[in-house]
Amino acid sequence: MAVIAFIGLGNMGSGMAANLLKAGHTVRAYDLNKDAVAILEKKGATPAADLRGAVTDADVVVSMLPAGQHVRGVYLDEGGVLSLAKSDAVLIDCSTIDVDSAREVAAKASEAGFTFVDAPVSGGVAAAEGGTLTFMVGGPEEAFAKAEPFLSNMGKAVIRAGDAGAGQAAKICNNMLLGIHMIGTCEAMNLAIKLGLDPQNFFDIASKASGQNWSLTSYCPVPGPVPTAPSNRDYVPGFAAPMMLKDLNLAMQTSKSAGVNTPMGEKAQTIYDAFVEQGGEAMDFSGVIKWLAGEMK
Ligand code: NAD
Repeated sequence: MAVIAFIGLGNMGSGMAANLLKAGHTVRAYDLNKDAVAILEKKGATPAADLRGAVTDADVVVSMLPAGQHVRGVYLDEGGVLSLAKSDAVLIDCSTIDVDSAREVAAKASEAGFTFVDAPVSGGVAAAEGGTLTFMVGGPEEAFAKAEPFLSNMGKAVIRAGDAGAGQAAKICNNMLLGIHMIGTCEAMNLAIKLGLDPQNFFDIASKASGQNWSLTSYCPVPGPVPTAPSNRDYVPGFAAPMMLKDLNLAMQTSKSAGVNTPMGEKAQTIYDAFVEQGGEAMDFSGVIKWLAGEMK
């Protein structure tokens, strides 16, 4: 069993840290928000007053932070993880961040002799609590082998995507595709309804024809055909629209920096930006069908 410093106990991190505790590890909990630390303490974690208290002599450091700037700050700043961790510590960042930041942190960690992987997740708060996340991991094979047992304590699938930054690359490419096919599915459903088709009937046809895709068959944006989909509960998330917008923003930032043409991703970003701006902020990302249909309240 290991001593694990867990940094960032928000919606996702709190459930993930609780699963590391359940697996029998010692978890040192740290967050800028003291209430979040207190909640984890009640579950058996050791509260840390600061980064130093969490990271010093820990075997593993796991971070689950909002964005690239927070990850760069926590790892690279003076008094950050790279200046505090013991030399053989395994460093795992599970946040969803831009590929450039992930590569920068990985390069500096590697220069300092640490084992580091980027390991963003697919799955929301329920999967974080239930230990059923999917991890997409970037880093050398030896680093993956060291991180994998701890990631397995928090997820149902742990897949290496390649070297440093590859986990983030896989995550944003997947979510760009998800944003695009959700909008496409909503457009097709909306047009079908406006043309007088019954949505269940169109679902039955498209799900057995070449329009078949995950947004249709597992997450149908109109109520009825897929009972577990957020469309059946007034688009309460699920996967919130601002999270999809964050991932599309990251995808577009990355495609520009890599000089790659992603016109559909760009269009999806523009549509989710407008949807979030015009009332979709608290809705599931499949609620974009209401924006397309001109039905925002
Ligand atoms: P969150 O805002 O709920 O949690 C982030 C936590 O980090 C907060 O508690 C905050 O206080 C803490 N924090 C920020 N800066 C810190 C610092 N310098 N030191 C210590 N703690 C600090 O966010 P979340 O929903 O838990 O998401 C975390 C990451 O997971 C994000 O990158 C997000 O994109 C990704 N993600 C979220 C979901 C989801 O459904 N929520 C799904 C997949 C991936």
